[in-house]
Amino acid sequence: MPDLERRYQRYRQLRDGRYVRQLINLLIAFYILFGAFDWLLLQQQVERVLVIRYGLGLPGMLGLWLVLHTGRRLLPVERIVFFSLFWLSFTTLLMIRVVPEAFTGPYLLGVLVIVMAGITVGRMGFWVSLSFGVLFLLSFLAVLGPVLLDNAFWLYYLFLSCGAIVLCLLAQFTTDRSGRREFLQKLMIHRKNHELRKLNSRLRDLAEVDALTGIANRRSFDQVLEEEWRRAQRRGYSLALLMGDIDFFKAYNDALGHQQGDICIRQVAQSIKASVRRPGDMVARYGGEEFAVILPALQLSEAATVARMVCDQVRTLRLPHPASPVYPFVTISVGVAAMVPQEQHSPAQLVGAADEALYQAKRAGRNGIHLGVTPAAPDTEGSDGR
Ligand code: GH3
Ligand code: MG
Ligand code: MG
Repeated sequence: MPDLERRYQRYRQLRDGRYVRQLINLLIAFYILFGAFDWLLLQQQVERVLVIRYGLGLPGMLGLWLVLHTGRRLLPVERIVFFSLFWLSFTTLLMIRVVPEAFTGPYLLGVLVIVMAGITVGRMGFWVSLSFGVLFLLSFLAVLGPVLLDNAFWLYYLFLSCGAIVLCLLAQFTTDRSGRREFLQKLMIHRKNHELRKLNSRLRDLAEVDALTGIANRRSFDQVLEEEWRRAQRRGYSLALLMGDIDFFKAYNDALGHQQGDICIRQVAQSIKASVRRPGDMVARYGGEEFAVILPALQLSEAATVARMVCDQVRTLRLPHPASPVYPFVTISVGVAAMVPQEQHSPAQLVGAADEALYQAKRAGRNGIHLGVTPAAPDTEGSDGR
């Protein structure tokens, strides 16, 4: 709870900063302007009032203005409002003390306006507003106390002030409460949004990431291939695709069990991913123990280099494969295809070419790569040993 209160206060500080600066500017402008009315009202007797207004009140207000504009962290904005209102009302009370009794009316009205408006529009919290009301009444008694007791008019005014302060505090209480409610609602919306964003990214992961291997799944492979195909078509560059398949994996499962098979698939996936490092490349699990690698902007010969690296990388994992007739460790075969996409071609043709090349790599003895033929293959067909 104290943490929530602290956050609320910080929220108010941010929310009210600009408003309070404008409010204080306005108060200072009015305070200065009213010197003219002092003069109109009091003429020759204005001197002492002007001394209080410009010699005491204004320097205090300017000091608070400076704190507000330069050292905002020094005092919370709420305190600055509190001190400004107190200073305005206190100096006005002092003026009431020095003006001839016949002219007290406008000042009494003025000070009550300052107090009422301060509590209702000053954006102070309820307790701070209450403290301001009490402090005003105490300073009223302190400054005007000596003339109070023998004058029914002053007592009437004091009673009126108390009533006005209580009413304004009631209004302030409801404003403060709805401010807190609004803050809690915003906080809840913020938290819900945060949860939703987390949930969304989890859902996206579930939809796009293969659960066993942690690499992209078939669905996002199809999507990315489509996008890369269109991009390559627009820019007129070659798009390459590798299709890899673990050799004799059925026998691996039979020899070491399905659980070990899963571990193997995961390690092979990570190893392929680690050997394909350009930002635009994509490694996906295409099916059971088959992987696909999208390589934008690569010619067939460059893609063949990547394919050889991928095969090497898997071999260096040195995962024992007791049932493989070609190599004592787990190996993969890779089919390579590349083409500059044309209007009359489709991504399926590229996939078909890579798949066919993979089949040829298997036929050629596995543990190696084979370069496929595509309708617009930039390089020529060929096969490659280990
Ligand atoms: P080849 O060298 O011709 O690829 O021989 P292969 O035995 O690997 O043949 P194939 O690719 O047809 O066999 C795939 C095997 O992979 C069959 C299936 O039991 C196994 N497999 C597919 N998905 C998974 C999986 O998620 N976990 C495990 N443990 N095995 C899988
Ligand atoms: Mg296989
Ligand atoms: Mg297979």
